[in-house]
Amino acid sequence: MDTDQDTFAPAIDPHTHLFPEGLMSAIRDVLTEEAGWEFDHPVARSAVEEILAEAGVETYVALPYVHRPEMARDLNSWLCEQAEVSEMLIPFATVHPEDEDVGNVVREAFEAGARGLKFHCPVQEVAPADPRIEEALAVAAEYDAPITYHGGTAPMFEDNHYVGAELFAELLDSYPELRVCCAHMGTYETDAFVEFAREYDNAYLDTTFAMSTQAEQTMGFDPGSIPDETFVKLSESIMYGSDLPNIPYPYREERAELLGRDLPEETCRDLFYRTAREYLGLPE
Ligand SMILES: [Zn+2]
Repeated sequence: MDTDQDTFAPAIDPHTHLFPEGLMSAIRDVLTEEAGWEFDHPVARSAVEEILAEAGVETYVALPYVHRPEMARDLNSWLCEQAEVSEMLIPFATVHPEDEDVGNVVREAFEAGARGLKFHCPVQEVAPADPRIEEALAVAAEYDAPITYHGGTAPMFEDNHYVGAELFAELLDSYPELRVCCAHMGTYETDAFVEFAREYDNAYLDTTFAMSTQAEQTMGFDPGSIPDETFVKLSESIMYGSDLPNIPYPYREERAELLGRDLPEETCRDLFYRTAREYLGLPE
């Protein structure tokens, strides 16, 4: 009997990535060049789903993003098509701040089945509450759809003007009606982002990459710097996530640190399942 598996499953993984092969290898090339990470995981949907299902994940979210204008529509359609033939996949949508008709790009994606929005602030050069994406945020509010941001400074964006706690606070103050998640525990400003999760009902964090057993080696962050108590107290605002398949280590390492903490069972159910369900607005 695998007790770790029992504690983890059934799980939701609200932070993975599926891209068409060419785009995925371009993204991986950049990550390898800039962060030195090497990736062994297969990228095809069926192969990713096999890894997830084996681990006990029932449902997962794929987060798209585009670094250039006029790419989002095609990528959103592609991902929604992938979801149509999957039992497990919840597709999110993306839009570029320089797209024409930002609001309609998002509306079309939601009508095609996308269930949330993703912004990769440093790659897309967009601040969380950037006026250029105001219409996109309004459409998300209209559809009661959550928005996941890469809004922190990790792993190589400490000098970037589109990320950080200050800009994220502007989002939280301006859009209290939106459910928003800052990925990667808000690294490297985890104290500030944990405070947001404590203070704002609409603020969520995911553990992706930051809480893996490999976080120290891969991004110079010590997951042990976040105490058990934070997860116990804020389990309704923090959810597990993985970045699969773009992780330079086996999938199990993404949850092993959290499972090694001996957290209360209720906390684990929140982290690995219930908080993501609430965030995504899935029925019980
Ligand atoms: Zn990611």
